[in-house]
Amino acid sequence: MNDVMILGDVKEGSLDIRTLELLGVGKKLAGDLGVGLSVVLMGDAVSTVAEQAASYGPDRVYKLEHPLLKGVNPDMWLASLQQACKQINPKIVLLSHSLIGMELGPRLACRLNTRLTTDCIDLSIDPEDGLLLRTKPVSGGNAISVFKCPGEPQLATVRANVFDPAEAADGNGEIVDMVPEIDESMITVESIEVVKEEVVALDKADVVISGGAGLGDEDGFEILQDLSKALSKSFGSVMIGCSRVAVDKGWISSDHQVGLTGTMISPDIYIAVGISGAIQHLVGMIKSKKIIAINTDPGCNMFNVADYGVVEDYEKVVPALVKRLEELS
Ligand SMILES: Cc1cc2nc3c(=O)[nH]c(=O)nc-3n(C[C@H](O)[C@H](O)[C@H](O)COP(=O)(O)OP(=O)(O)OC[C@H]3O[C@@H](n4cnc5c(N)ncnc54)[C@H](O)[C@@H]3O)c2cc1C
Repeated sequence: MNDVMILGDVKEGSLDIRTLELLGVGKKLAGDLGVGLSVVLMGDAVSTVAEQAASYGPDRVYKLEHPLLKGVNPDMWLASLQQACKQINPKIVLLSHSLIGMELGPRLACRLNTRLTTDCIDLSIDPEDGLLLRTKPVSGGNAISVFKCPGEPQLATVRANVFDPAEAADGNGEIVDMVPEIDESMITVESIEVVKEEVVALDKADVVISGGAGLGDEDGFEILQDLSKALSKSFGSVMIGCSRVAVDKGWISSDHQVGLTGTMISPDIYIAVGISGAIQHLVGMIKSKKIIAINTDPGCNMFNVADYGVVEDYEKVVPALVKRLEELS
């Protein structure tokens, strides 16, 4: 059939945003290749989500329902996904670079005797031979490489927040029932525990205030925390981000880093404090709805993408802003 096939993630009974992003890039790749787009959904009850997926205009939504597919049992999901690949015979398979994608991707590649490229930040088709061009950061994020691999299916996991999510389409895709042949004897994983830990979910924040080299030292982040507290009275979730230089200097941990080798985000408001606007930073926050820049250099690149800009030392601007917000609250 040679479709582009994506594996959908379901979250709280609905399609996860990452699936919409996969649908967005999958549609483009399928269009470039002149082939169909298929979505595979797995679970114990995915009928409603299948209808939701179909409304985004893939050609087909394969619905794999089975009691053993409840939750995420990697052995059951892997076996079912392998069977789906056998039936659909896709040219390209895309998984999100999530825990499930990272668990299934390598094992699926091994079973299908093909090559996997993980954590892709760009995907396109080589017009010469129709192979998938897979772009990803390498060498600890110090370089970007484009990979092209022979063999099918062409398999990749895709980083979140890189591609635009698909929009609802006019026509609905066909929903196809597929019965996976799985049973308990195939389970090798004894138990899976979800361990709760503190994570910096920058991509979920409404407002991100990021600090860069211009903060001068780590104490600068305390000033940004004051602004964060003041804004928290008006916004649901306000978080602190940073540039890579701030991480490299040891002022803040790397899970706060925004950008190519950090997190890709699209908050309602992004406040860049003492950040010059290097391209590797911009790709991570350019989709923010409103961008505010505070920088002493009027010629810095961040002002080229900012909706509002203040040319001033942040140590003057931020406390004044906090004071004003407190007066208004
Ligand atoms: C492969 C690769 C991947 C990378 N990935 C990332 C990434 O994911 N994220 C990322 O951020 N970078 C990344 N980088 C690094 C990136 O190229 C830049 O070096 C980095 O973003 C610069 O950080 P910065 O803006 O904080 O520092 P600088 O470029 O040094 O800018 C500091 C800014 O602060 C301003 N300033 C100084 N004093 C003040 C003050 N008192 N008040 C207000 N403003 C002031 C200055 O005018 C300047 O504009 C990557 C680089 C490579 C090669």
